[in-house]
Amino acid sequence: MILTVKKNSDKLSVDRLIDQLSARGLEINYSEGENFIVLGLVGDTTALDVNWLKSFDFVEEVTRVAAPYKKANRMFHPEDSVIMVQDIPVGGKERIVVIGGPCAVESEEQIQRIAKEVSEAGAVMLRGGAYKPRTSPYTFQGLGSKGIRMMEKAGKENGLPIVSELMSADHLEEFVQHVDLIQIGARNMQNFDLLKAVGKVNKPILLKRGMANTIEEWIMSAEYILASGNPNVILCERGIRTFEKYTRNTLDLSVIPLIKQKTHLPIIIDPSHATGDWSLVESVSLAAIAAGADGLIIEVHDHPEWALSDGAQSLKPEKFKRVIEKGRKIAEVIGRKL
Ligand code: PEP
Ligand code: MN
Repeated sequence: MILTVKKNSDKLSVDRLIDQLSARGLEINYSEGENFIVLGLVGDTTALDVNWLKSFDFVEEVTRVAAPYKKANRMFHPEDSVIMVQDIPVGGKERIVVIGGPCAVESEEQIQRIAKEVSEAGAVMLRGGAYKPRTSPYTFQGLGSKGIRMMEKAGKENGLPIVSELMSADHLEEFVQHVDLIQIGARNMQNFDLLKAVGKVNKPILLKRGMANTIEEWIMSAEYILASGNPNVILCERGIRTFEKYTRNTLDLSVIPLIKQKTHLPIIIDPSHATGDWSLVESVSLAAIAAGADGLIIEVHDHPEWALSDGAQSLKPEKFKRVIEKGRKIAEVIGRKL
């Protein structure tokens, strides 16, 4: 980190700050220029608050050279992390995983039918929300515990680990017992208490990017989970809010190589929430595979017109199957397997 200090600052105050920083184990390289004094802080500055440093009136500028995250940082962990969801590896150079299922579990029959369809199409995990984060309190809120049980049964009968969103730490115990991959949704990406709570369990976590969060904020949220003791984090990009209205969200695929440069964590893409439109899901899915995504999580419904949420972005099973078939070809071209 580099601190630029105003030239005519009170020496005693500057020395006092230097002493404070040294006491935190940092080495301070002092160099006096014509207009400014430059302090080079060497050591682990991840815990240093830039805004605290900026609060000193003699500090002109604070520049971070290293990223504020440590455990997620590729620099300190050069090899890819491979996260196991039951016996399915996510991440690494070879395999690409496809997760399919409805936005929400709606009934025993619905989740049974769709689980069978996505399994036959080639999905390796089943998604489905039981606790739904809905914009309106008057719309379907999910089946709660009953939904989790229905999904667990459908997943077991079809040999698919299950993915579901945890909205509150109150249900963590239930998820640890019955869910294979715990999803933290976009709306909770910065619910720090929830992140700390899932950081204390041993289950893999699917951390979605917040709809208005920077990539660095997203990685910092992963850092919360990692720093709390859970190394099993998979990132999921689902698009962000922009001025564009033709799609539900805006998906910037450069996030895939970027996350891989900055972190060692797997990244999967959610083309359903990213576009909000089933007719765009196939193209975006194939592009994501080509760009190096470690997987896809796609909403599938056998009767989208009956869906209690997100029908417009849900693929029918035959279309989902086609995405997987085409995806396999792209995967082969880039030396991976789907
Ligand atoms: C979901 O996956 O069901 C969901 C609500 O997604 P997001 O948190 O990305 O909006
Ligand atoms: Mn949805």
